[in-house]
Amino acid sequence: MQSLIGKLPRVRGQYRENVELSRVNWFNIGGPAEVVFKPADVEDLRFFLKEKAENIPVTVIGVGSNLLVRDAGITGVVIRLGRGFAAIEAKGEEIIAEAGALDANVAAFAAEKNVSGLEFLSGIPGTIGGALAMNAGAYGTEISNVFISAEAVDGHGGKHEIPAEKIGFSYRKNSIPKDWIFISTRLKGKLGDKEKILDRMREIAKSREETQPIRTRTSGSTFKNPPGMKAWELVEKSGCRGLKIGGAQVSEKHCNFFINNGGATAHDMEELFAEVQKRVLEKTGISLELEIKIVGKYA
Ligand SMILES: Cc1cc2nc3c(=O)[nH]c(=O)nc-3n(C[C@H](O)[C@H](O)[C@H](O)COP(=O)(O)OP(=O)(O)OC[C@H]3O[C@@H](n4cnc5c(N)ncnc54)[C@H](O)[C@@H]3O)c2cc1C
Repeated sequence: MQSLIGKLPRVRGQYRENVELSRVNWFNIGGPAEVVFKPADVEDLRFFLKEKAENIPVTVIGVGSNLLVRDAGITGVVIRLGRGFAAIEAKGEEIIAEAGALDANVAAFAAEKNVSGLEFLSGIPGTIGGALAMNAGAYGTEISNVFISAEAVDGHGGKHEIPAEKIGFSYRKNSIPKDWIFISTRLKGKLGDKEKILDRMREIAKSREETQPIRTRTSGSTFKNPPGMKAWELVEKSGCRGLKIGGAQVSEKHCNFFINNGGATAHDMEELFAEVQKRVLEKTGISLELEIKIVGKYA
């Protein structure tokens, strides 16, 4: 039988078959991708999307810091924006970043250019593409607060400029079509003092170190905060701190972070999500909604 790569357009970037996704997500969980495609640049990505057969599914991932990949992996093509999409530049108070750039690198670059307002990105361990998809935020600022515009490519390779009034940001989401892939963004900061910016970034790092299990196999906040409430408080109130299923556990340090203690399957993790949702509903009457995105097939 012809391999999937044999059916894909001839691109300038790289295809790899049967790639273990557990190595490239923060939980270290999940089965393989049938094919991973790393486009050489935007035109290569557009060419791929325009030429590929309609029936080949495409999934885009960043660095998998808000992602649970199921145990049988992902069918079709997983797109990862690598080195060809990591450029960052400054124009006065504006920072222009490609979607594969790490949030932490964008924050550090902004500090270097004396641009304040992007310090919150320093502690978010994802890419700019992931931050736009999730409207990522921390310490009182989210990407929507500093957003000017983004560029994205649709499922057929068409390129779109998305201004602030069209992106429809709300809590941890946006309203652009699901198959669009962000390729870059323009963010607005303010000219400031480098030392103060770096101090703020150090404060954020210290606070995270004290309150979050950032050195474990975790995928960040598991559930969205319901309006006016904190998900971690509801999880704690429902007696779920430290709760375990298989190798998956609710963190003792921060109840909205779930961790892979080693050997956890995606199945363990999903069972734990469901068990916590059930206990929280029984105890408080509130339905917790997942913030983590789940992709792939059940084993
Ligand atoms: C220790 C830890 C701390 C965290 N703290 C925070 C925090 O303070 N605030 C916060 O908001 N999040 C936090 N997170 C969660 C996570 O880092 C963010 O949601 C981040 O924005 C995800 O980026 P990513 O590149 O890892 O995306 P992934 O996890 O790989 O993907 C997440 C979603 O984004 C989509 N996506 C990725 N790239 C693109 C693209 N180019 N175009 C379109 N869609 C795309 C994927 O399809 C998927 O639906 C934390 C996670 C960890 C592990």
